[in-house]
Amino acid sequence: MAGIIDGKAIAETIRADVAAGVAALTAAGGAVPGLAVVLVGDDPASLVYVGRKIAQTRQAGIRSFEHRLPAETGEEELLGLIERLNRDDEVHGILVQLPLPPQIRAERVLDAIDPIKDVDGFHPVNVGRLSIGTDGLVPCTPLGCMLLLETVIDDFRGLKAVVIGKSNIVGKPVAMLLLERECTVTVTHILTRNLPDIVRTADIVVVAAGSPGLVRGEWVKPGAVVIDVGINRVGEPGKGGRLVGDAAFEELGHARAITPVPGGVGPMTVACLLRNTLLAARKQQGADASPKKGA
Ligand code: NAD
Repeated sequence: MAGIIDGKAIAETIRADVAAGVAALTAAGGAVPGLAVVLVGDDPASLVYVGRKIAQTRQAGIRSFEHRLPAETGEEELLGLIERLNRDDEVHGILVQLPLPPQIRAERVLDAIDPIKDVDGFHPVNVGRLSIGTDGLVPCTPLGCMLLLETVIDDFRGLKAVVIGKSNIVGKPVAMLLLERECTVTVTHILTRNLPDIVRTADIVVVAAGSPGLVRGEWVKPGAVVIDVGINRVGEPGKGGRLVGDAAFEELGHARAITPVPGGVGPMTVACLLRNTLLAARKQQGADASPKKGA
């Protein structure tokens, strides 16, 4: 039987570590970390995600600043808010929930966030830092994938990793992180030829395709580790509908370890958002967050 990588439990540990880090920062005289969450419109899935992020932010002792704007908000108005948040000393992290309504160019908005407050790690400066392997804010889901892999792999050097999906939010950044750990990385996508043959060479498979059950048992070599990022709803809610991943979980008993869906990568994303917020707050207050004079 494949080992199950319990993302829910690992995420809980990360959140507890963040809460301890927040307490230590404030005990040393630092400011309480603050996260601004901006939601434009009322997309039901976004409302659920944002609600979860805000609740867990508060539980970790991080201040949460919620900005809910109507769906018809203009680009300039949103950019004005980002500008104010960039200047606000109480805000150390800024998260703009995607997708944005069609009249707003997400690229312009993400580019406007101060890179030091870019806790999603989507700003070109942070993308660049990731690609050259210097210190920056790393996107939350790929960071979560790496933290899960670290629970089962001690030494990444020379391992063959295959990433399925080349999105900017998961596939590309997770490939960069694996490369940074000296894996030999192949990034694949919808037009990749002979995908099963490529996956069969992998010691590590990270799949983020949004295609239910794409990775079949016969694609995965015995002893490989599978990180399933996919979240797909199959069937109707309340009528046997459920969430499934991009890997055919029940066919992967011969893997060394696999993440379940739900309960694998999903909970790690918010935990890593909190981790990034603490990191950003520490950096903005000086690396050692020394007590302020007179404090
Ligand atoms: P995306 O649609 O932006 O990109 C999907 C990528 O997969 C593309 O590069 C596409 O070429 C590739 N792809 C699609 N079908 C394929 C196939 N049959 N064979 C090979 N490649 C294929 O998606 P995304 O935003 O990266 O998200 C991917 C999945 O991960 C989705 O199910 C999404 O819900 C999930 N996701 C989960 C989390 C989380 O917190 N767990 C976070 C982000 C995304």
